[in-house]
Amino acid sequence: MTEYFEVHARDAAARVGELRLAESVTTPTLADDVVEDAGSEWVQRRDRPAGDESALTVLPYRGFPSGTAEEVQASFAPDYPDVAFPSAAVVSPQTADDYGADAYVLSGAPGIVGHGAAFRDAVVDTREAIPDDTALYLSGVATPRNVAVLVYAGVDLVDADRAVVRGTQGRYLTTEGAYDLEDLDELPCSCPACQQPVAEFDRDDCVDHNVNALKAELGRVRRRIRDGRLRDYVEGQSRHEAWVTAAFREFDQQYGYLEERTPVMRDSLLLSATEDALRRVEIQRFAERVTTRYRKRLDDHPLLLVPCSAKKPYSESQSHRQFQDAANYRAHVVSMTSPIGVVPQELELTYPAQHYDSVVTGRWSEEEQDFVARVLRRYLDRTDYSRVIAHVPEEGYRDICERVAGDVDVPFEFTVEDHPTTDESLGELQAALAGEPQMWVEDREKATLRAVADYYVGDGAGDELFDDLTVQGRYPKLQALNGDGEQLAALVPQYGTLSFTLAGARKWVASDAPTKRVEIDGFVPEGSVLAPGVIDASDDIRVGDEVVVEGPKAFAVGRAAMPGPAMADATRGVAVDVRHTEET
Ligand SMILES: [Zn+2]
Repeated sequence: MTEYFEVHARDAAARVGELRLAESVTTPTLADDVVEDAGSEWVQRRDRPAGDESALTVLPYRGFPSGTAEEVQASFAPDYPDVAFPSAAVVSPQTADDYGADAYVLSGAPGIVGHGAAFRDAVVDTREAIPDDTALYLSGVATPRNVAVLVYAGVDLVDADRAVVRGTQGRYLTTEGAYDLEDLDELPCSCPACQQPVAEFDRDDCVDHNVNALKAELGRVRRRIRDGRLRDYVEGQSRHEAWVTAAFREFDQQYGYLEERTPVMRDSLLLSATEDALRRVEIQRFAERVTTRYRKRLDDHPLLLVPCSAKKPYSESQSHRQFQDAANYRAHVVSMTSPIGVVPQELELTYPAQHYDSVVTGRWSEEEQDFVARVLRRYLDRTDYSRVIAHVPEEGYRDICERVAGDVDVPFEFTVEDHPTTDESLGELQAALAGEPQMWVEDREKATLRAVADYYVGDGAGDELFDDLTVQGRYPKLQALNGDGEQLAALVPQYGTLSFTLAGARKWVASDAPTKRVEIDGFVPEGSVLAPGVIDASDDIRVGDEVVVEGPKAFAVGRAAMPGPAMADATRGVAVDVRHTEET
């Protein structure tokens, strides 16, 4: 059982945690203050200063790589039975397992760091084998340039060993490079060690600077994790060293590992500034769910493909208002966008559809065109339209539409002459839709609530949960009521999610829709369910998912604060933020 480490914030595999020592330490951080000499596989114990009960300078290690001689293990056994300490186990990817330790030291880290695929395999294998609420420690490898990617991969603790060694060798480290001291004609840093003329700057100063630079980078990384924006940062920061770029891309091939750890909703910005953004979990997951879970319910209307807008949600942008004025709700609006693919109007609020910002130049890369074309094709395979009105600009969009039009049965019509918002183009759009029936507001609102249920809960969920739906409120503040006027759920405009009531949760559990369940002990949760109270949880629960909480004494509904597999494992931390609860 871990007692000294708790995860407080998650951003995919990266976490901000707390290592409880004499004073709490926020991770990811340098372990140097926590333990000395942990860099070697064989850890030397250091005694605490006599009489100082609070200063924790010992990290007894439990667990050894297989094959370690008994007498060696015995000599390292902790001998402080009266004092509780955090413990760490030294493991390799092959020996990694749950040894009941608070931290796990990956042996041989310097041989792994520097090779993208080897690094990925070692971290993924180890992280998957050890409990989620334990710290992973890579010793002797961190530099200001690589540490963001180490943390992105799932590392919680590093140390300054390499930065110190490089400093003593006269190597000056920055987040983008490494320089020989002799080559520097000025010090490109404003840390305290660098507040002196370059001529007087010696190797001791260089050590201090390197450690300062590493600490400063870890501070930035912690900030980005708390903001849910480490990925954007890493896409840029990984560019300064080839193996780091390779490692970061290797993790994009590890979809399952990252997907399990990536929240399904948040309100932070997703900046798409590189092509790597196409491969991030949030983008792939949205495309996957739109093309496998989402169901179109606004039948009898043609598809109107329009370009995305910079302003989100799209429907509030000036261009989309013009499109809707011309279309007059006679078509089902779907926005085409890089990097997301296609966004049906019902999902315009759903993360990350209203949360991304992309670099708009009007030019689309081949990869962007391929991606959007693939998603559009899959979308059309699953939906049924009589016609497609493509009201899209020439540049990029039209090429994609023409490419897809050749592969599908439904006919495409193009209504843009020069630019989508010119009077001429809007007139063409209006004319193309003449004679088509108008949508009812209520039908659009119902379709929205059901589509969001499909997206979050699973294929068919919208129809299962909301079979006798009535809608209250004005978009986007919609409430889903059953036929008896009882509220089941509400749309949360900020995230484009549903929040269920107890009645909604009961209906969910009784329905054939896939359920996300958290089974708890015999207590009545108030405010939150802590991980130790969780007996079991569905594997497919992600951070941000609505979950039903059931136990011998209570029935509750709330929002997951950790992934399902972690809930079942963890012994610390909030598992579910409970919204409503009742005793049973
Ligand atoms: Zn400096």
